[in-house]
Amino acid sequence: MALRIFTCRDCGHRMRFAHDHCGKCYCHKETYQQPMLWYGVIAVLFVLLILGLVQLISSQI
Ligand SMILES: [Zn+2]
Repeated sequence: MALRIFTCRDCGHRMRFAHDHCGKCYCHKETYQQPMLWYGVIAVLFVLLILGLVQLISSQI
């Protein structure tokens, strides 16, 4: 299943999440639409979640 959550600002094409350009007109996405940004955000959230879990577990011992 392809996630098409962004719309191209130039041609209105529904863009896939995975690529950093529009699939129709190949213009570059907005910065907030770039997958690398979101992978970074997800990675940071994941690390915070792990740290939170570690603290939770160690506080119960
Ligand atoms: Zn486009």
